[in-house]
Amino acid sequence: LSPEAEDVLDEIDEQDVDFLRLQFSDILGTPKNVSIPAEQAEKAFEEGIYFDGSSINGFVRIQESDMRLEPDPSTFAVLPWRNSEKVTSARLICDVIDTSTGEPFPGDPRRVLKNAVQRAHDMGYTVNAGPEPEFFLFEEDENGSATTTTHDSGGYFDLAPKDLAQDVRGDIIYGLQEMDFEVEASHHEVAEGQHEIDFKYDDALTTADNIVTFRSVVRAIAAEHDLHATFMPKPIPRINGSGMHTHLSLFTEGGDNAFHDEDDEFNLSDTAKQFLAGVLEHAPALAAVTNPTVNSYKRLVPGYEAPVYVAWSDVNRSALIRKPAARVPAASRIEARFPDPSCNPYLALAALIHAGLDGIENDLDCPDPVRENIYEFDEEKREEYGIETLPSNLGEAVDALENDEVIMGALGEHVSEKFVEAKSQEFEEYLVEVSEWEIDRYLEKF
Ligand code: ADP
Ligand code: MG
Ligand code: MG
Ligand code: MG
Ligand code: MG
Repeated sequence: LSPEAEDVLDEIDEQDVDFLRLQFSDILGTPKNVSIPAEQAEKAFEEGIYFDGSSINGFVRIQESDMRLEPDPSTFAVLPWRNSEKVTSARLICDVIDTSTGEPFPGDPRRVLKNAVQRAHDMGYTVNAGPEPEFFLFEEDENGSATTTTHDSGGYFDLAPKDLAQDVRGDIIYGLQEMDFEVEASHHEVAEGQHEIDFKYDDALTTADNIVTFRSVVRAIAAEHDLHATFMPKPIPRINGSGMHTHLSLFTEGGDNAFHDEDDEFNLSDTAKQFLAGVLEHAPALAAVTNPTVNSYKRLVPGYEAPVYVAWSDVNRSALIRKPAARVPAASRIEARFPDPSCNPYLALAALIHAGLDGIENDLDCPDPVRENIYEFDEEKREEYGIETLPSNLGEAVDALENDEVIMGALGEHVSEKFVEAKSQEFEEYLVEVSEWEIDRYLEKF
């Protein structure tokens, strides 16, 4: 056993862990887990745990379904909530191995991100990523099902005697801290019932693991308060949706920030600008991965602080990418403002990384920043500035993805095929539905 695995076995003893959840993700980013009694930990590290991959969304065809989970000891964490039987559980995030080849399974999203990180390493870089996930807290109805009723009616400056939202958010933050998250900021968002909790950036793989963990911690602790936490991008029409701004930078092996240039007007190095240009170039295809639901495109409309136009800016927030002010060189980074928290973070980060690295490899020209509010541009002005728009629905985004070899390649053959298939089907199902809006608008009119 590796020293790291030995350490985990010690921790399991010390913390009286009863069950281990061996966790991995399907292509949609839904966490799956196999629970084993803690006594099986040693065996899990030695031999892995076998499971049937054919029942997991987008994994394999029936005839080639034997998969093995290999727990990554660096991801050990005791879960901060207990179930009704008061048992203590810990989780380990796993890599998925195809038993027929003995190789990492190419359909494992975590593997897709590892490949992206490896490409960056081969170019001499570590990728850092820091997310700002937003979510809504909604009341449950008498059956415990989620509603879209917000439980707090206060915005930023409400002087309610007791801010329930703040209590819940506090508990969520304690839970995250117990799982070693470094929470940097948290606040009530613009919309009623909407919240944001930011945690410190880390290497891209750790951040993707963290986002998956974050979403389950938030949901579990909200549920303890009889609330439903949702990362659905736009649960309420005409109210700001939930995004997940994603901050990115590349550090060199020596630990210097390759995105920082003291002498540049924006403190951005040529490397940073090429990376940025790569993300802009591939934005329409990226959207299918970073904004992967029908509902994602209800958020990406003008006027609600969500980006729509393919441009970058150092001053305003209507652009797809912002260059946040950096007080120290380590903080020079770009902020992709289009991703939303319904994405599979492994695939979203992998796609963003490949897009950026492609910009570096091809020495792409970075356009000038746009310093005006692009929401106020008319079509003519957008044309003059050469500003394109993001896909306006999931169908267009999937088309853009299919036509983009770089982003298809980022996902790899297995995942890109399954992903396009799943998302095309999702969009087709949506197209045949008749919405409330249509009934309201047309039923009595015609
Ligand atoms: P905003 O101004 O958009 O609210 P913040 O200043 O709150 O953004 O920063 C959000 C995220 O950026 C945090 O997760 C933070 O850790 C991360 N971040 C800071 N420096 C870097 C960096 N060099 N690379 C990647 N992410 C970073
Ligand atoms: Mg923030
Ligand atoms: Mg901030
Ligand atoms: Mg926000
Ligand atoms: Mg932000």
